[in-house]
Amino acid sequence: MTARVLDGQALARKMQEEIRPEVAAFTAQHGRPPGLGIVLVGENLGSEIYVRNKLKTAADIGFRADLERLPATATLADTLALVDRLNRSAVHDGILVQSPLPKAMGAGAGQRVFDAIAPEKDVDGLTPVNVGLLVQKRAAFIACTPSGIIELLQCERIQIAGRHAVVIGRSDIVGKPMALLLLHRDATVTICHSKTPSLAEVCRQADILVAAIGRAGLVTKAFVKPGAAVIDVGMNKVTDPAVAQTLFAEGHPRLDVFRSKGSVLVGDVHPEVAEVAGALTPVPGGVGPLTISMLMKNTLRAAQARAGQAVG
Ligand code: NAP
Repeated sequence: MTARVLDGQALARKMQEEIRPEVAAFTAQHGRPPGLGIVLVGENLGSEIYVRNKLKTAADIGFRADLERLPATATLADTLALVDRLNRSAVHDGILVQSPLPKAMGAGAGQRVFDAIAPEKDVDGLTPVNVGLLVQKRAAFIACTPSGIIELLQCERIQIAGRHAVVIGRSDIVGKPMALLLLHRDATVTICHSKTPSLAEVCRQADILVAAIGRAGLVTKAFVKPGAAVIDVGMNKVTDPAVAQTLFAEGHPRLDVFRSKGSVLVGDVHPEVAEVAGALTPVPGGVGPLTISMLMKNTLRAAQARAGQAVG
């Protein structure tokens, strides 16, 4: 069997085209576009790439998107002051604080900063108010990656209700909200993490397997029930030739990419899983683009709600 490819890129583009006229209508009605403020603290190559993609997509659809940078030496107080300014800004409807914050800011800094975001501008769904509302199945803003995955499963007509979903990873931004969203759609959900014994065995029970780990190729064929839908959230930059060779057979085009660039972007799911899964998201081109489209959608909804407009 060769898994059906779940094309997140195509769905992401469709979602962007769907909201484009709504963004234009908002701009015409209110004399300003919906606005997103992105906070980036310090220098982190991955974050730079994520932020650049978000800014590019936002500009392309007609949003105002401002990158608010702070140096790596910025303190927690500096970051909180910036969030406070964006909370009070009339032109910013959504606020996104790019993770991770510099380690020097101290343990718990990320939580303090997320806690400070006004819930009505929390387009990443990370404030305690929005997380609480999600638990009760009445959230306004839900973390963008898991909500994008639900859109993809629905668009691809992959049944969720009554199926067994296994989520590997329990982060606040992916694993936990993913599990809740699947639960709310009547899946039977198992959450796994680094202390889960017999991980492969547990995963093999899944009809829907979501890998949000951050370990290149950890999910091998041994983790996958034949025909399962496998969603690969991981984004891992491989620079070690030995690791690249465990992932791609000689002659594989991605191995050529690795050899010419010195690195290759891979997911948490080993490419051999395509031989057993029924459906699989690629990396890149799977979950990543959906995350950005959901962010745009959430920002538009935040703008409409703040303007007292009926939210579409
Ligand atoms: P995270 O906060 O580091 O969480 C990783 C989770 O994986 C933790 O719950 C951890 O367990 C678990 N884990 C680690 N090693 C494991 C192992 N050997 N076996 C089982 N579980 C293990 O990461 P995250 O923010 O959720 O992100 C996960 C991945 O998704 C990363 O590669 C990230 O870059 C990617 N990501 C992609 C997108 C996108 O748009 N495509 C968005 C967000 C994140 P413990 O809790 O026990 O430590």
